[in-house]
Amino acid sequence: MTLSFEMTMLLEFMRRVDVAALALLLACAAIASCDSAKSNQAESARIRTKLEAIPLDQKVQFTNDEWKYILTGRQYYVLRRRGTELPFANAYWHTHEKGVYFCAACGNPLFSSDAKYDSGTGWPSFWQPIGGDAVSAASHSSFGGGTETTCARCGSHLGHVFDDGPRPSGLRYCMNSAALKFVKAVGN
Ligand SMILES: [Zn+2]
Repeated sequence: MTLSFEMTMLLEFMRRVDVAALALLLACAAIASCDSAKSNQAESARIRTKLEAIPLDQKVQFTNDEWKYILTGRQYYVLRRRGTELPFANAYWHTHEKGVYFCAACGNPLFSSDAKYDSGTGWPSFWQPIGGDAVSAASHSSFGGGTETTCARCGSHLGHVFDDGPRPSGLRYCMNSAALKFVKAVGN
């Protein structure tokens, strides 16, 4: 079948319009996503600056919307949604280096490597927090008989504490790696 000259021209015209419209649409989408990436970056920079301006001995009270801007998806799931990572498939379960574990949300020092021990559970385990008031234990949620623990500074979920730990405390702070940020001791 042969199309008339007019019909062929019409189809060609429509094809070009489609291509042009598609190109315009893609350009708009690219500009829009670029703009929103820029504003996300600006917002996370703003929240980081706000966090850094709060002295370590003061509490941090951010909304989950604010935390979302500065935490990774995995950190947000654990710290703000009380998620639990898989055993043996997390960053620090087998870390033996000397250093300090900080809250991955607010930077509060939580545990020293001196109190870390191999509990055989596949999660980083400690027999005591670095300071008496660094970690809070509350009964918001329980996990296999443990009591929920949160960062005393920002209220983010860390893991659970059990009473089957080693001496001298007899406690086992069973933590999620995503809730922690390990900083190696200098000279190690
Ligand atoms: Zn914290």
